Amino acid sequence: MIRDLNIESEKLVTLLKQPGNILLVSHYNPDGDAIGSVLALYHYLKEKGHQVSLIVPNDFPDFLKWMPGSDNIVVYFKHQKTATKIINESNVIICVDFNDVTRLKDLGTKLVSSDAAKVLIDHHPKPDDIYKIMINNTGVSSTAELIYNFICKAGDRRLIDSKIAECIYCGIMTDTGCFSFNSSNPETFLIIADLLKCGISKDKIFNRVYDNFSYNRMKLLGYCLNKKMVVLPEYHTAFIYLTRKEMEKHHFKPGDSEGFVNLPFSIEGVNITALFLEKKDEIRISMRSRGGFAVNSFCTENFEGGGHKNAAGGESHISMKKTIEKFKKLLELYRHEIETVQWFGE
Ligand code: MN
Repeated sequence: MIRDLNIESEKLVTLLKQPGNILLVSHYNPDGDAIGSVLALYHYLKEKGHQVSLIVPNDFPDFLKWMPGSDNIVVYFKHQKTATKIINESNVIICVDFNDVTRLKDLGTKLVSSDAAKVLIDHHPKPDDIYKIMINNTGVSSTAELIYNFICKAGDRRLIDSKIAECIYCGIMTDTGCFSFNSSNPETFLIIADLLKCGISKDKIFNRVYDNFSYNRMKLLGYCLNKKMVVLPEYHTAFIYLTRKEMEKHHFKPGDSEGFVNLPFSIEGVNITALFLEKKDEIRISMRSRGGFAVNSFCTENFEGGGHKNAAGGESHISMKKTIEKFKKLLELYRHEIETVQWFGE
């Protein structure tokens, strides 16, 4: 059931009137929006006089570690004892940037069984219905945008300092691929304009997030484009696939393939992309598209996944070779849709 955003925001304002022990949680493989959103909220709630803790299931990439407050994030897989203690002591848990507790892996079970009041702030479709308060809007660029809107709705715009603004900016910038998708709503740019007024340096943020490849990561990128990219012009599709062996050879670290899925969009006529990564027990699939082709349904229907219309993911439990064969067959199956869909201008 879709809940009214204004009513839910007011409920959250009321819930936060009393100082509390608040826990902020985000999803597995935290990205720029996940970390930016929890940290913006962290600084804001501390300003408001709350005790605030942060937990994410696993570690986040180095290129997000410059963000103010990131040292305070507890990684559940590394510090289960500390994390469990925090969960038990929290009276409010705010879940940020995910729609489904399975995206927390083991941490999800702990969370569901906690007595704390649970709140969701997220922009993914079809969220779980376990929340007392649910600020869910798929029409915004990012969760960071929802955090900005919430702080303003609470009448606290004046509390957005350069620290909070940096975190929100980073969330919006990364979730829109530097304003190349999910950012056609003028509202997003009004927010950016306001964040710039808070004294942030957008160029510095860009530099910290994107211009920081390790030598190995840069070599891996070259390898992917040169040896591991397949273009299927008849389906407007291109994909990249990497085996564990290849990742090991390039000293792969979490976050190293971040953004790789978007690279084939630079090829003329490519409007659907995919990245296949071989993990220990599965093939992880990321997909992107432009316009009307819904990769979330494609992933839900065929690869036990989901996500946004133009950015989704899934998994496959057969070999890489078979997964790719399956993927190609599916493209043929979706041929009619691919041939008739509108890529731009929606
Ligand atoms: Mn997001």
